[in-house]
Amino acid sequence: MLKRIDLSRDYRKHQAEYMEAVRAVCEETAFSGGKFADRFDEEFAGYCGVPYAAGVNNGTSALHCAMMALGIGEGDEVIVPANTYIATAWGVTYTGAVPVFADCTADTWEIDPASVRKKITEKTKAVIGVHLYGQPFAYREIKQIADEHGLFVVEDCAQAHGALYEGEMVGGLGELGCFSFYPGKNLYAFGEGGSVTCRKKEYFDAITTIKNQGCQVRYYHDVIGYNYRLEGLQGAVLSVSLKYLPEWTKRRREIGERYIREITNPLFTMQAHPANTSPVYHLFVVTVENPDHLIAYMEEKGMECNKHYPVPCHLQKAYRELGYQRGDCPNAEYLADHCVTLPLFPEMEEAEIQMVIDACNAYRGA
Ligand SMILES: *Cc1c(COP(=O)(O)O)cnc(C)c1O
Repeated sequence: MLKRIDLSRDYRKHQAEYMEAVRAVCEETAFSGGKFADRFDEEFAGYCGVPYAAGVNNGTSALHCAMMALGIGEGDEVIVPANTYIATAWGVTYTGAVPVFADCTADTWEIDPASVRKKITEKTKAVIGVHLYGQPFAYREIKQIADEHGLFVVEDCAQAHGALYEGEMVGGLGELGCFSFYPGKNLYAFGEGGSVTCRKKEYFDAITTIKNQGCQVRYYHDVIGYNYRLEGLQGAVLSVSLKYLPEWTKRRREIGERYIREITNPLFTMQAHPANTSPVYHLFVVTVENPDHLIAYMEEKGMECNKHYPVPCHLQKAYRELGYQRGDCPNAEYLADHCVTLPLFPEMEEAEIQMVIDACNAYRGA
């Protein structure tokens, strides 16, 4: 069975290097934060082309920290896309602010500037754009609206490490960029991890304090803090994988571009990739009339597929009290009802890529 993503291949290939990194951390017992976490922060900031990156314990915490650094809290609203992983909205909710869900466009599946404009109220403080599936959202259009209304733009980069928008790395476009290193993301830890990137030292200092129990000097707590530090072991592992990220990204692009060129079945619809962006194909999502039928068909042929995501945020039970209904974000709902994610990861072999393409082209529908 070809898995949708198989992390064991990378581990087997670079096992000695990963194990050496783990050993070095153990030798120095630099387990929580510390040297290896700090070194990764510097390397990751360099990779993203920003002055600061603050490593944290996961991407959800990164989003929470970003909201706190902007001073967002009770009484505020933050606009987020309805079609994203739920954690984009959690960061808002944790502060006491309210996530307001905007629809995506019908072709890029990214947050729709026209929908954002309609959702702005006098309580709106920020917009979180998500570079969904590794495809940068329409930053310029969102920024324009944000500037008109004095709003912050935050990037959720959890699926888009290394993606380019008008030649610039994501994570350095908005006020803050939030990354996840969850296993399966384009850059991943051996466990949980995340980072917040920014250009302003004041944000970096605020996040460093928040993630470290609210202190800059040990045992002197200036603000109510959290234990959101990046573990040393994860920092060391991430320093190894960061070296391979450009290679992995290249490979993801080759495979993604082949799918686009060679999957010609008219029953499939693919995400639009605007010319001013260079996506990183975190997930290769297509829409078809009957996704469960396609998933079963692919499974029978030995390929695992799944759905990202079957329920849009505004219709999740957790947010039922916000009062959204089916029909409020029709494009996001269509995507949830029709999406299928095909296998795509850097270590796929030629025969496997061809097998996915051939199976998709031979698919005749339900
Ligand atoms: C993975 C992901 C997150 C959350 O990251 P974790 O590290 O799992 O907490 C947030 N937003 C998006 C878009 C994601 O894909």
